[in-house]
Amino acid sequence: MASAFSHVVAALSLGTCLYRPEVSKRVWVAGAVCSVIPDLDVVGFRFGIRYADFWGHRGFTHSLVFAALLTGVVMFVCFRHGAPGLGRLPLSAYLFLATASHGVLDAMTNGGLGVAFFSPFNNGRYFLPWRPIRVSPLSFGRFFSPQGYLILKSELLWIWLPAAVFALTVLMLRPRQPGATAVN
Ligand SMILES: [Zn+2]
Repeated sequence: MASAFSHVVAALSLGTCLYRPEVSKRVWVAGAVCSVIPDLDVVGFRFGIRYADFWGHRGFTHSLVFAALLTGVVMFVCFRHGAPGLGRLPLSAYLFLATASHGVLDAMTNGGLGVAFFSPFNNGRYFLPWRPIRVSPLSFGRFFSPQGYLILKSELLWIWLPAAVFALTVLMLRPRQPGATAVN
């Protein structure tokens, strides 16, 4: 996995495509939470579920179908009446992409098994052809080790920096809101 911090950064960066001041902050919080939920599958290790199993790490919870299901659940539980400042379709698309971005980043790491993007139809594990991100340890404590520094450096370079460039580009290319002077 990439670290939870970096998954959140990716989700917030995607959110800039929809950002407007009037959009409820709950949307960005929901996107951030959705981006880390797939890694709840690590609790399976405690119950004897193996890495390569259906419910194993990077298994079903990292799939596109899971991203769609989670989007449906979050829409129903948190945004049943929509979100101020954002239509249902863009909101759903954002939650889906925030969740799905998790698997994409994991598939760019240099360790572990691949990601079951197409589960439950195909439980094969896949990596992207380009894997520059150092894999993050499964245990939180080991993240704060000398090896953790190298992981952080790798994530800053390959996730945080592109996420910041993407967000700034989106914000700069955005058409300006009509100013008060445009009112007749
Ligand atoms: Zn993961």
